[in-house]
Amino acid sequence: MTGQRTEKSLQGVASEDKEKRCPECGSKNLVMQGHELLCKDCGLIIE
Ligand SMILES: [Zn+2]
Repeated sequence: MTGQRTEKSLQGVASEDKEKRCPECGSKNLVMQGHELLCKDCGLIIE
């Protein structure tokens, strides 16, 4: 049997930044506080 195909579906490789930024001060210094993100710089809780 001939006709072996090896198709790769490279889909969904969007450049999604996992790193979030604080909307208040723009810092990336965020820590998880329970199920919320807390900015270490200004203390803002990001939902
Ligand atoms: Zn902040």
